[in-house]
Amino acid sequence: MTDCYMPEPKSHGAYDLAVVGAGSAGFSAAITAAEQGAEVALVGHGTIGGTCVNVGCVPSKTMIRAAEVLHGARAASRFPGLSGEAHIMDWGALVAAKDDLVTTLRQRKYIDLLSAYPGISYFDGAACLTTGGVAVGGRIVRAGKTIITTGAAPGQPDIPGFDDVPWLTSTTALELTDLPRSLIVIGGGYVGCELAQMFARMGTRVTIVARSRLLPEAEPEVSEALTGYLRDEGLMVHVGLAYRQVTRDERGVGLIVEIDGREETLRAEQVLAATGRTPNTRGLDLHKNGVQRADSGAISVDAMMRTSNPIIYAAGDVTGRDQFVYMAAYGGKVAALNALNGDSLVYDNSAMPWVVFNDPQVAGVGLSAATARNAGYDVKTSVLPLDQVPRALAARDARGLIKLVADAGTDRLLGGQILAPEAADSVQTLAVALKTGMTAKALGEMLFPYLTTVEGLKLAALAFDKNVATLSCCAG
Ligand SMILES: Cc1cc2nc3c(=O)[nH]c(=O)nc-3n(C[C@H](O)[C@H](O)[C@H](O)COP(=O)(O)OP(=O)(O)OC[C@H]3O[C@@H](n4cnc5c(N)ncnc54)[C@H](O)[C@@H]3O)c2cc1C
Repeated sequence: MTDCYMPEPKSHGAYDLAVVGAGSAGFSAAITAAEQGAEVALVGHGTIGGTCVNVGCVPSKTMIRAAEVLHGARAASRFPGLSGEAHIMDWGALVAAKDDLVTTLRQRKYIDLLSAYPGISYFDGAACLTTGGVAVGGRIVRAGKTIITTGAAPGQPDIPGFDDVPWLTSTTALELTDLPRSLIVIGGGYVGCELAQMFARMGTRVTIVARSRLLPEAEPEVSEALTGYLRDEGLMVHVGLAYRQVTRDERGVGLIVEIDGREETLRAEQVLAATGRTPNTRGLDLHKNGVQRADSGAISVDAMMRTSNPIIYAAGDVTGRDQFVYMAAYGGKVAALNALNGDSLVYDNSAMPWVVFNDPQVAGVGLSAATARNAGYDVKTSVLPLDQVPRALAARDARGLIKLVADAGTDRLLGGQILAPEAADSVQTLAVALKTGMTAKALGEMLFPYLTTVEGLKLAALAFDKNVATLSCCAG
């Protein structure tokens, strides 16, 4: 860390809590503990603020928005009588504006907070666990309890030849000073899907490849529809393939894949690996300190965020679950309160909304039909194409669908997914419905404002029992 405010570490004895990792989970844990009156040692290594603000949510979402603006202008002709065109005049200026936003938010949401909480002492350096606390920069920081929040980093795909080619990660792709002419994106998870569409809209010829399907955790209807929309925009999407080898030549990279039993070489100037993230645990001395890891390498925690060592907790991406920034912050808070006050809080992700910032956006909460069936529910589903939602018709953009999952016996809502331009905002209504145990009938009876995307939830709820095509305006 070079640009960070650093208060004098306390000279007295032990801290109540040591937090290792100054990203979203770490800051949340440290602030929560300081608000409880605890003395906290927060140890950060690398750029303060961690993934979200520096190389994740913030830089990716501002670039995705810029790409949407470009696309939006070009898509104006879907309204008769309109035409539009937008161009990149200065890629460097766009990248600089993104960097400026990152710097501003890092300062406001992380660095400035250190001085706002006198109970937090910041230490700069790579920490490792040790008896009675943590070791950092050759000194021992003693603490009663410790929370590990060291996050995760882009993983390298296990494809022969990958070591011999220059490859981009989500981090380095967002730092490119020149837009690549062509790009292969390996991985159909949310990072791969978001960045693939962003680069394509910016003007790069993009091929996205995935072993299974795009967004494998999403409902099959959602995944299939998104694949179609990306293809409609000109992206090449190859799914259900096996990777054989990566090669390099003077024009760029070649990815040899096997599709339907035959080998094919896909070529591009650059390749971006988005095949998952590896927990940052190296050098922490976990084993020596009795902290167990799962087979994935992530630190195993129980519902109270405790590791296998009763005075050490973990939260955020390093635990390998729910890799979203708000879940990292939530986990950090639960861990801090449990560490300080006795283990009374349970990490509850049952109404966790999630969003994929493609266009149309994908958002969901609760169980999919398949996971609900696997959990033993007698499942009923409702699938509403977006052309049944007046908002979509008015916007002349009916790409998308809404799928709701409910318990056939009780009618209680179990989950749902939305593929729609404003899915990210609409999903929160469904999250509240799930949190409060609503039935599909009750959701269908609620008042929703007319000509909104979220009104689609009401229509999808009604569609369990009715043909919504025969309803009048406002689902009346
Ligand atoms: C491209 C991309 C886009 C994303 N978009 C979104 C989004 O739109 N919405 C969303 O909710 N989530 C998004 N995420 C996920 C989100 O960024 C992460 O889930 C979140 O930042 C994880 O927070 P964390 O605190 O667990 O880890 P981090 O923020 O990574 O913090 C961990 C910190 O610990 C430090 N550290 C590591 N080892 C040590 C050590 N030994 N000692 C001290 N410090 C150490 C690291 O350097 C880092 O600073 C995105 C991620 C990526 C990659």
